[in-house]
Amino acid sequence: MNPISYGHQLITDEDILAVVETLKSDYLTQGPRIPEFEQKFADYLGVKHACMVSNGTAALHLCAMALGIQPGDKVITTPITFVASANGFRYLGADIVFCDIDSKTFLMDLDKLEEILKASPKGTYKAVVPVDFAGYPIDEERLHQLALEYGFKTVIDACHAPGGSWTDSKGEKQMIGNCKYADLSVFSFHPVKHIAAGEGGAITTNNAELYRKVALYRTHGITKDPELLTQNDGGWYYEMQELGYNYRITEFQAALATSQLSRLDWSIKRRNEIAKRYDDALRNLPILTPFRAEGITHAFHLYVIEVHPIRRKALYDYLHENNIFSQVLYIPAHTMPYYKSLGHKEGECPVAEDYYKRCLALPMYPSLTDEDLQYIIDTIWEFYAEVGKNGK
Ligand SMILES: *Cc1c(COP(=O)(O)O)cnc(C)c1O
Repeated sequence: MNPISYGHQLITDEDILAVVETLKSDYLTQGPRIPEFEQKFADYLGVKHACMVSNGTAALHLCAMALGIQPGDKVITTPITFVASANGFRYLGADIVFCDIDSKTFLMDLDKLEEILKASPKGTYKAVVPVDFAGYPIDEERLHQLALEYGFKTVIDACHAPGGSWTDSKGEKQMIGNCKYADLSVFSFHPVKHIAAGEGGAITTNNAELYRKVALYRTHGITKDPELLTQNDGGWYYEMQELGYNYRITEFQAALATSQLSRLDWSIKRRNEIAKRYDDALRNLPILTPFRAEGITHAFHLYVIEVHPIRRKALYDYLHENNIFSQVLYIPAHTMPYYKSLGHKEGECPVAEDYYKRCLALPMYPSLTDEDLQYIIDTIWEFYAEVGKNGK
């Protein structure tokens, strides 16, 4: 039997055709496919601007640049995330503050966030970067209220959550990434994420000035836009107006992303079916299955269960021996040697540290077959039957 990983991309014949057509076209980069994806993605989410970049980490870095983050500026994020959420701001010398997580959703705990904000004068924190961990939406409306009160900018790390949604207090459905209550949102198109482009990322915003900045910094800070030039020597003329990067993506990656985007709704639906199946099958085991509140659509990038800390490693190993590659996500960012070298330490975020001892992400991807799913479930039951026999 083939190994079953915790996530896997699905590449169809249509995807391949879209890439091949692009390879045969005039543009391999800086052509029409990138704006085509940006338009479709923006329309899908219901946001004004989308800027496609080389990867999700670059997207976070560009957000930090657009917000004018300076060395020593305080930025709050969650420890239960891929380290890039913090690193994107570290690149500019930000001082990262880790806010502990909610024990039910595993997302940044907004009560704790409020405590942190309250303890310092308004304006102390420049940005807050929550993560829609596993595909679960953060309460952007409450975050927005806090942003207004305490004067910070909001960047939603939505790398796990394209296609997810939540309901605001007026009863209106809000797509994750529509930036109705946030300044910026960020996505990744790494193969393990919903839209697989090999590498890739995007920034969304309704703010024209932030959009102009991220688009400029994506390509060296260079513009040819006649409206923006300070002078114009002729058709060849361009200006480098600020120090930017080469964070561009290729045309064939954009074509692949567009083809994948057309299946996103199906993917979310299938992921939720798989989640339901796990929920039902694992209910009678000593396992906690993922929480969902009313009114949300979980994007289920990950299906994370919690087990007793004394069994987690044994379960991981048992699944591994049976060709099932579950994953532990994430090791709290503040316990990484790099962040420790900056003064962070164990004990800083106790809920996240406890979560780390219990969590296990089971295989979750839309092309997971019903047979594989049943095999995973049977193997987990087998593990607990063994545990019972051994009286442990
Ligand atoms: C994947 C991911 C990123 C980084 O995206 P890349 O495209 O791999 O650079 C950032 N934040 C989170 C939460 C992610 O899962």
